[in-house]
Amino acid sequence: MSKLSRPILGVLGGGQLARMLAIAAAPLGIKTIAVDGSDEACAGQVAPLVVAGWDDRDALQAFAGQVDAITFDFENVPAETADRLAEQVRVAPVPSALAIAQDRLAEKTLFRECGLGTPEFATVDTREQLDQALAKVGAPAILKTRRLGYDGKGQFRIKSLADADAAWSALGEQAHVHGLILEAFVPFDRELSVIAVRGRDGDFRTWPLTQNWHVDGVLSMSLAPAFDIEQLQQRATELARTLAERLDYVGVFALELFVKDGELLGNEMAPRVHNSGHWTIEGAHTSQFENHVRAVLGLPLGDTGARGLSVMFNWIGEMPDAAPLLRTIDGHWHDYGKQARPGRKVGHATVCADAAAVLASRLDTIGQALGRQAQVQPVLDVLITR
Ligand code: AMP
Repeated sequence: MSKLSRPILGVLGGGQLARMLAIAAAPLGIKTIAVDGSDEACAGQVAPLVVAGWDDRDALQAFAGQVDAITFDFENVPAETADRLAEQVRVAPVPSALAIAQDRLAEKTLFRECGLGTPEFATVDTREQLDQALAKVGAPAILKTRRLGYDGKGQFRIKSLADADAAWSALGEQAHVHGLILEAFVPFDRELSVIAVRGRDGDFRTWPLTQNWHVDGVLSMSLAPAFDIEQLQQRATELARTLAERLDYVGVFALELFVKDGELLGNEMAPRVHNSGHWTIEGAHTSQFENHVRAVLGLPLGDTGARGLSVMFNWIGEMPDAAPLLRTIDGHWHDYGKQARPGRKVGHATVCADAAAVLASRLDTIGQALGRQAQVQPVLDVLITR
């Protein structure tokens, strides 16, 4: 970034991730323009929004002509759209990385090639193959669409072999369109994620590992830094670096991991800023959003160290009363400005503290005030062991 020219960042997708990227870019003097198919996309409340579909070549070409680099808040942008834009302007991460992360089979295959174990898996394209896959993988297992699944959508849990017909009824049609994958169900000890960033110059950093709790496949709570992670942190960082170099990745990505008997297993890679990294806005020296903007525009990366302990609450479906959080010391409120709708991520909150006991007390107070004891309890259980 020269003294005179202020770059403009383009973001494909105008959801909360684009919104938080735009907010992080603003203090750096960087303007953001987002593209979305809906004129209600919430990034439009903080940045100019181009309303266009992924097949609207003219609109996307005009958009690409206005920006210095393009990135994504959404990994399911069609590969051909990303490729076409990459001929016109710098696109980061590279569309080939996006293509791998769009397909659970390609993703898990890559994990294994990079030395990261995964749950046992098998591809399923026909009803017959589902039986073969169950014989190989065993039950319990999860049948997932290879593409376009997120937040537990496009998944069916198979508790025993007797569930095979029900699983096929639920997802069989998808088999012809996107293909399916059967994965062994991992009775994990905990779920972690590593958020990583790689700059254009190859500078690579990770934030401290985050522990995550999901409800119905959707992230509910995160704690960062996770406890007892020294060796896991080193291993996760090495794996993330191997993946990033292999993909020639530029920008932030998340690796979702299961921990089982002290070993890491790879679940999923998100080629973008990630919900389990939202705590970095207030809880780290540089947020995932700011470092993503810096990486994509070729600027030096910032320190990824944590400032203390942070807990993030996801608000799903509707925003709760803000007052208890606004009254909390080091409590931070994020309302994405979206319409309430069942299952929709509409906001989050982060609470930080220097000591586990202080954080536990703040969490307990908020949980009680909002009648959300069940949501905070798993995190409290971890914090009170400190
Ligand atoms: P996904 O959309 O694949 O990230 O799945 C969402 C959540 O479902 C994960 O974060 C886990 O909590 C759970 N899950 C997914 N796959 C598995 C698996 N193979 N074994 C156990 N839990 C899983």
